[in-house]
Amino acid sequence: MSQTQAERFEFQAEIRQLLDIVIHSLYTEKEIFVRELVSNAADALEKLRHLQLTEKTVFDDHLALEINLTTDDTKGTFTIQDFGIGMTREELVENLGTIAHSGSRHFLQALKEGGQAGASLIGQFGVGFYSAFMVAKSVTVYTRSWKPDAQGWLWRSDGSGSYEIEPAEGQRRGCKIVVELTEEAKEFAKAERIRSILRHYSAFVPVPINLNGERINTVQAIWLRSRNEIKDEDYNEFYKFQANAFDNPRYRLHFSADAPLAIHALLFVPEDNPERLGLARIDPGVSLYCKKILIEQHPEDLLPEWLRFLRGVVDCEDLPLNISRETMQDRALLDKLGRVISNRFLKFLDEEASKRPEDYEAFYAAFSNFLKEGIVTSFTHREPLAKLLRFASTTVEAGKTTGLADYVSRMPEDQKEIYFLSGPSRDALESGPYLEAFRSRGIEVLLLTDSSDPFVMDALREYDGKPLVAADRAGLKVDAVGDPNRGEPLPEERAKALCDWLQALLGERVKAIRPSNRLVDSPAIALNPEGAMSAQVRRMLKAARQVVPDAVAVEFELNLRHGLIHRLDALRESREDLARLVGEQLFDNALMAAGLLEDPRPMINRLNRLLEETAARATDN
Ligand code: ADP
Repeated sequence: MSQTQAERFEFQAEIRQLLDIVIHSLYTEKEIFVRELVSNAADALEKLRHLQLTEKTVFDDHLALEINLTTDDTKGTFTIQDFGIGMTREELVENLGTIAHSGSRHFLQALKEGGQAGASLIGQFGVGFYSAFMVAKSVTVYTRSWKPDAQGWLWRSDGSGSYEIEPAEGQRRGCKIVVELTEEAKEFAKAERIRSILRHYSAFVPVPINLNGERINTVQAIWLRSRNEIKDEDYNEFYKFQANAFDNPRYRLHFSADAPLAIHALLFVPEDNPERLGLARIDPGVSLYCKKILIEQHPEDLLPEWLRFLRGVVDCEDLPLNISRETMQDRALLDKLGRVISNRFLKFLDEEASKRPEDYEAFYAAFSNFLKEGIVTSFTHREPLAKLLRFASTTVEAGKTTGLADYVSRMPEDQKEIYFLSGPSRDALESGPYLEAFRSRGIEVLLLTDSSDPFVMDALREYDGKPLVAADRAGLKVDAVGDPNRGEPLPEERAKALCDWLQALLGERVKAIRPSNRLVDSPAIALNPEGAMSAQVRRMLKAARQVVPDAVAVEFELNLRHGLIHRLDALRESREDLARLVGEQLFDNALMAAGLLEDPRPMINRLNRLLEETAARATDN
């Protein structure tokens, strides 16, 4: 092979950055590179196994589907060989020269957002092949694709800015990766060290692994075994293998079914939700098998999108191995399978929520965005998903939550609607005027503090046949309240005159003014007319820089028993100029409580004038 045939390529900028971190900043848990390379080899073999079922000619068809590891203590090398699908020249450039792998991209992004480079971040996202550079002076990949007319290639890099590719004659199918270890990493040239790294992990690699010619694992499809034979530790190791993860799963669901489809499934919920940290979208992670044969590693369309946080395996005997989404029959089968799995998982969550509420709350705190997404984006699972929602509520103490089913079970017989109020925090909601009518009647109100909750309520509309109603809406069916001990209401005629006067003062800003039957302690309240966009939704859209329509006129209600309203009524005859200021301020206060006041500045002048009046009064007396 002549030197001139070698071609030099620059790594993509992002890969250079990644390599720089991998080489210079990661000192702990270097051993993860072994698992990463074994995972890649196993993937390549699984893909080949599948190709053998669908392709007529596969190069080197007779080779065993296994992984061979060799350590050479004298040369200081670690070598891993698989007879998997291999790579063509284009694939080498694409796969090992650019950042195609989503884990690496998420890793870089997490770093940009201020994460600490280290085992925990690598653990969360994995940097795959590039992890070899944590221990390598150089990495050489010999490869030949399964494609009959392909050629052999050699790829080599020392992890600095570039890599080389040149033709390599006489290659077997698959990949052989030779890692020339640095002085500090010489331990990985020892068989015992490698054996101990792979001790648990290798049990779940679905192909045989040999270390220096000796078999080190027995291949087993853990999902086909019976639950009582499997230890927690085995499950956790399998999760780490399958999800290429480093945490322990938060939940697992292992089940089998015979009807309507023959299924063995093993599903996991990870500990963390990277989407919650604002990182890029997670890719779906449940693999599809038929009788132990991998059909597709990460099918996009097996489960609904909002279940993309699940990891694990679904093995369905009724699927054809060469499943085709183009045929109606196969598509229908996949849909059915997806429905069965989703329903079973939702049932599982519901059981967990009642059996172990605290664990469920922790799950909910981390993963509720997916459940909410499921409600907002499709009808299919709305009812069971709604059951899984949790909210703060006027009935449960601060810091605790409740579900819709529990709310309904506490509803008095004559209450027909479920009430909720949304706002930035529990404190803000409790100090506003909206809860008064409900509190005084002992009606529970759910307190929604997640900014997406109003959209969820909007999509749901009802639960268990009971409408979900915002407590700051006009026209609620809350019966007359009011404590007679708090004073007499303004007589009807005076009340009407006061309302007319205020309507003239406030003009188009109010749609209607009327006496309130819902207030106890507050003098007045601004209500969103039915069908109008809620203050919470307006704020969110604005924050997302969406065009928000001008605020609609609100409905304004007065508490006719309140001292301030009585005073205002008297004042409008004795000092109308002052009454106007009070009327305006009363209205702005109500808008502020509703979260609808757009610009508080004009209020300052007015308040100063009112303060001056008050001070003058006090000093005159
Ligand atoms: P990931 O495996 O998570 O996609 P990696 O960075 O580890 O990311 O690998 C990038 C790509 O290189 C893989 O997606 C695969 O296409 C290819 N690759 C890596 N190792 C092998 C191998 N042993 N055989 C064939 N292709 C491989």
